[in-house]
Amino acid sequence: MHRRLTVPSALVATLVLAIPASAANPSAGAPGIGDPYYPAAGNGGYDVSHYDLRLKYRPETDLLEGTATLLATATQDLSRFNLDFGLEVSEVRVGGRKAEFRKEGAQELVVTPASPLAEGRATSVVVRYAGKPSELEIGGWTAWHRTPDGGVAAQEPDSAVWWFPSNDHPLDKATYDVSVLVPDGSQAISNGVLVSQSSRLGWTRYNWRSNKPQASYLATLAVGRFDITTGTTADGLPVLNAYSKDLGDNAGAARASVERTGEVAEWLTEVFGPYPFNALGGYVPNVTSGFALETQTRPFYSPRQFANGSNVSVVVHELAHQWYGDSVSVEGWKDIWVNEGFARYSQWLWSEKEGEGTAQELADWVYAQHPADDPFWTVAPGDPGPENQFHLAVYDRGALALQALRNEIGDEDFFAILKGWPAKHAYGNAEVGDFVAYAERVSGKPLAGLFDTWLYEPSKPAAPAAAGAGVARSAAGPERPKSWKSIAATNTIHDHGPGHRPEHAH
Ligand SMILES: [Zn+2]
Repeated sequence: MHRRLTVPSALVATLVLAIPASAANPSAGAPGIGDPYYPAAGNGGYDVSHYDLRLKYRPETDLLEGTATLLATATQDLSRFNLDFGLEVSEVRVGGRKAEFRKEGAQELVVTPASPLAEGRATSVVVRYAGKPSELEIGGWTAWHRTPDGGVAAQEPDSAVWWFPSNDHPLDKATYDVSVLVPDGSQAISNGVLVSQSSRLGWTRYNWRSNKPQASYLATLAVGRFDITTGTTADGLPVLNAYSKDLGDNAGAARASVERTGEVAEWLTEVFGPYPFNALGGYVPNVTSGFALETQTRPFYSPRQFANGSNVSVVVHELAHQWYGDSVSVEGWKDIWVNEGFARYSQWLWSEKEGEGTAQELADWVYAQHPADDPFWTVAPGDPGPENQFHLAVYDRGALALQALRNEIGDEDFFAILKGWPAKHAYGNAEVGDFVAYAERVSGKPLAGLFDTWLYEPSKPAAPAAAGAGVARSAAGPERPKSWKSIAATNTIHDHGPGHRPEHAH
């Protein structure tokens, strides 16, 4: 589902009628979708609407065998096209017919169909494959977490390459059916609703369905030994959480946090509007990483997030992403503020609601923590560059920008915007500039200067006039809000672990 697919359906029909069997002037699809941060990410020439992944995984050896069926539509007359994928492929079929294929580099699979695809033509692409994801390193980096009892796919900006072939960029979202066969006693966790589960001859199959558009990096797979809890929200949504049986001393705190998913989602619904997906939950596998990730409907949490006790703030952050990041996704990775600035600000709003410090107090505190010569102020949250995509400034300066906006336009318009934006761009993609224009429209105020100051200028902005208004401030500066420690504890949310990905690795 590609929002830039602009070919009118009447024109498509004409083309298909006029040229039923072949494309008029076929050419190769681009090997990248056109994201300057990650030139190899995604591909051109087609659009995927659905992924059907039928997988078998052996936890003891890390061997993953799969058949992926992609439903796609050509967006140009196509002689060949690329998929992003790293494991060993044994067969590719396009429209039922065997296709030629070859690997190019570590993660491009070049597919040449038996005959060219006409623009607008819907087709199926079947890829059979097998491999050990833990053995796949790209630029010295892996997105796959091997655990003592299985493996986990959860990373940003990409993890799909380690477990299924895709058009790996948020611009091409699709629905997913993920069916996983694992030995009895192991569980397979993925996104959406667990539709069914059945056992036969020592193996259990788990069938998961995510029925709303989902970016490829938000698809997740975890196989291991989990304790699973289930429930239903007041709105009737199924909740499913999974905890590794091997969380040690973090087990209690992990549950005490993630079990509050329904409560947090209920509150976020008041702030951001209706929850956009068909299921809720979270999972905590026994990985050694420190981050958390907003995998769609079912965020991933590293056990280390709960090393100091329960932390509901990280649950607030990842669930806020279901609106800001998952339903409304970045247009390009430069737009990461549209995800992280809002997810961080939601933690400030939760603190405000819990009486542990208002968003203004948190803003004052953050502002005071970074002196003018702190390199923190040289990172532009509105376009941080790939090397700083997950820099703390994208989060904290990004949230300061929202507090500045709130002070400028007042609570009524500010909260109308927080709720209106996810409705306006539901299941789509948007840029930072789209948000600025939307905020100007709703508030009726020119805001380009404010956003330039807070999102783009490489220097510490003068404190906004309204900051601290009505807040008691001592000469020593603002006091540390009570919630600060639990919010700061989530700063490793997107710390991508010891194997930090090198620049431009994608
Ligand atoms: Zn985040």
